[in-house]
Amino acid sequence: MIEPSADAVNRADTEHPADGAGSSSRSGVPSGAGWSGRGFSTRAIHAGSEPDPSTGAVVTPIYQVSTYKQDGVGGLRTGLGTGYEYSRSANPTRTALEDCLAALEAPSSGQLVRAFAFASGLAAEDTLLRSTLAPGDHVVIPDDAYGGTYRLIARVAGPWGVQHTPVHLSDVDAVRRAIRPGQTRLVWVETPTNPLLSIADIAALAQVAHDAGALLVVDNTFATPYLQNPLSLGADAVIHSTTKYAGGHSDVVGGALVVGPAQVPWLDGVGDVGPALADRVGFHQNAMGAVAGPFDAWLVQRGLKTLAVRMERHCDNAERIVEFLLEHPRVRTVLYPGLPEHPGHDVAQKQMRRFGGMISFRVVGGEEDALNVCKRTEVFTLGESLGGVESLIEHPGRMTHASVAGSALEVPADLVRLSVGIEDADDLIADLDRALA
Ligand code: PLP
Repeated sequence: MIEPSADAVNRADTEHPADGAGSSSRSGVPSGAGWSGRGFSTRAIHAGSEPDPSTGAVVTPIYQVSTYKQDGVGGLRTGLGTGYEYSRSANPTRTALEDCLAALEAPSSGQLVRAFAFASGLAAEDTLLRSTLAPGDHVVIPDDAYGGTYRLIARVAGPWGVQHTPVHLSDVDAVRRAIRPGQTRLVWVETPTNPLLSIADIAALAQVAHDAGALLVVDNTFATPYLQNPLSLGADAVIHSTTKYAGGHSDVVGGALVVGPAQVPWLDGVGDVGPALADRVGFHQNAMGAVAGPFDAWLVQRGLKTLAVRMERHCDNAERIVEFLLEHPRVRTVLYPGLPEHPGHDVAQKQMRRFGGMISFRVVGGEEDALNVCKRTEVFTLGESLGGVESLIEHPGRMTHASVAGSALEVPADLVRLSVGIEDADDLIADLDRALA
């Protein structure tokens, strides 16, 4: 049922140069150099992971260290390349992860890309907001964004003076109408969205944002760089909650920003930093300090090495479960971008390689039925988060999206969300069958 376009397949398989050009690097040379033109998994396994120069260890060690013996007063320690002085500013394990992320999100154009790793997805988002916005600015956000993103923008950035407008991003004209010329600085995209799995046309929205002098930001957490590459489609910045598929094992909380060569001219000189987005984010990463610790960075990088095989299995299992749910009499609607009848399916087919491991569905019996299904599964664990090897089930209205109750982002009460793991599909289907009975 669910065929990705040939273009999307080719893009994911072959057109991610691993040059990581411009990414921070221990050697001063893009660390992905040499992996350029290689496939996704080759880059995931090798970019940023050159054998340790002092021991030859094939995996970057966990540099559990805060400070470094310097080469001279005011000089960085250059033994590993461009240098280290203090681990909030840079740490070799974090550098390895950042180089890998840059290599995986780098567009085929060879455009400059830099990646930055954070203590959580929300820390990455906060750093991006503060790197690009000032009081009085305005942001267009999705009308079904992740609840924590909405809370950050509405209840943290809002009182600071940043305004926002929720828009259904599948409607490109509505986005155009919501933009306030000279005031809108960011168009914030999630695609697929959490939890309704709506699809936004990244290339079209990049055009709309750029026509208005704004930046296009894409939260790529659900799709991962394996399935979708927003920078190749015109986005200026990509966000990840690496807590999810990137880490992949529900054992780490982390976040990342990957940015292209965009400029932020409205903040040129503010904080004594120029207008280059990468410079502003790099400055704020250090100045705000919400960085990924060495062990967390190491766990996320280990996760990335198997991202491709995990995503294939997540997608295989999700497709089987979608087929099962479509036939089930107690299921009213199935939301999955791979379904030809799903709104935005054509766009998803154009910009994604496959359609991911997230499924939402609405049950016929209303909220009570939805809550009961969530309580009854045994293989699907009742829990928030997503993207791990184990399958999770949750009720967005009472759990992940409780913070948007009463807002334009409120989700239907009869909605159940699945994060389909990589267990045996037959066991997952039997579990849902039992829970829906
Ligand atoms: N973006 C999306 C799409 C998410 O689902 C989440 C968390 O669930 C975040 C961002 C925030 O990430 P974190 O929980 O790592 O701060």
